[in-house]
Amino acid sequence: MVVMKNLHTFYFRTYGCQMNELDTEIMVGALQSRGLTKIEDEDNADLIIFNTCSIRDLAERKVMGKLGQLGRGKKKAIIGVTGCMAMAKKETLFRKFPHLDFVIGTNNITDLNTVLDEVLHGGKQVLKIEDKYEENLDYLVAKREDKVKAMVSIIRGCDKFCTYCVVPYTRGGEVSRTPTSILEECQKLADQGYKEVTLLGQNVNSYGKDHPEWGCLFHDLIYKLGAISLLKRIRFMTSHPIDITIELMQAIRDVPSACNLVHFPIQSGSNRILKKMHRIYTKEEYLHKVDLLNKIIPNVSLGTDIIVGFPTETEAEFQETYDIFKQIRYSIAFIYAYSPRKGTPAMRWKDDIPEEVKEERLQKLLALYSQIGDEQRAAILGSTVEVLVERFNRDQKLLKGRTTCWKKVIFPGDESMIGTLQQVKLHSFNHQTLLGDVVTRG
Ligand code: SF4
Repeated sequence: MVVMKNLHTFYFRTYGCQMNELDTEIMVGALQSRGLTKIEDEDNADLIIFNTCSIRDLAERKVMGKLGQLGRGKKKAIIGVTGCMAMAKKETLFRKFPHLDFVIGTNNITDLNTVLDEVLHGGKQVLKIEDKYEENLDYLVAKREDKVKAMVSIIRGCDKFCTYCVVPYTRGGEVSRTPTSILEECQKLADQGYKEVTLLGQNVNSYGKDHPEWGCLFHDLIYKLGAISLLKRIRFMTSHPIDITIELMQAIRDVPSACNLVHFPIQSGSNRILKKMHRIYTKEEYLHKVDLLNKIIPNVSLGTDIIVGFPTETEAEFQETYDIFKQIRYSIAFIYAYSPRKGTPAMRWKDDIPEEVKEERLQKLLALYSQIGDEQRAAILGSTVEVLVERFNRDQKLLKGRTTCWKKVIFPGDESMIGTLQQVKLHSFNHQTLLGDVVTRG
């Protein structure tokens, strides 16, 4: 192990999606394996890394502001940028921020330690970016803070090219990870006491299609993971509706550890907008799959992503999105106002929906989401649900956990319950949190 000269501590700031969080865990593990200590105080770190996101303008502006601020003070640390913004902006980041030491793309996080050596010994800025992802990450080095749930990458990149999205450009095409490597990691996690894994990918439903010789599509993988008896819950995100198959629905039904929450992002309820987004399904095709999901998976809950205010979206088209939300009654929703992203086809179109109209549509949909959430929570009061206990709630007196369909529950209990499944009878709710008491201690 090489201990780097004058470099003892590091600070990591992660923006964006769960894939970025997982990449951070892998990079943190790689830095710790060479003797560096992670600290939470940015001002005293010898190395500062921003793992960035390009999905929203706001996420980018935050990082740019932070980098600018670091350049105005006396430079005390090595500073690096990784993630999607690195892929999108490449060497232009060095021109804008001369105090930046390295930029590493999403496909090169495994090169972090080599890049650091080059920075320290070569004394110059280092850019490491490859457009194509090679499946060569050592996932086992990931340093996880959570001891109950873990994220596991199964496929990286995306081939769908939705017109508003930078992911196919920043993360490249779909590359699946071998089933053997995924199973090995999940078995290891289960042996270490993890009870839940979330399988990650920009489109998990495409898993294995790039390697037909493996004979392992996404539903096959779910069955294989279902055989790990110590693993109590399997989740996954994100899905593209076009790729969700009947076989996958059956696997979710048949594998007891597969959670019955399916993230099934519609994005818009208008066929014209869906076409403009290049989502490659119609509202009717989507609703047909919702019907199948409801028929095949008992008590299925659905989650979605929605963009309001996409270029040219009319009030009537927004209303279609609103109506479909009301019809499906999603239990989880990530709702955003559209913001154009550089490098995407939609960038060429005029962002013609005024900000106040976008905001009005956003608030209208958020209010509906909140109302449906309250109704769903009220409807299950008095019932008993199975909760995977994750940790103490903020006050250290109550425990916090989630149901299989991701509802947050808090209840009185002690530390020994963390990491166990408990049957909790629900008596009330407060905002988005259900409150209850353990019925029989599991
Ligand atoms: S499916 Fe569409 S929105 Fe999702 S990552 Fe791929 S291009 Fe982006």
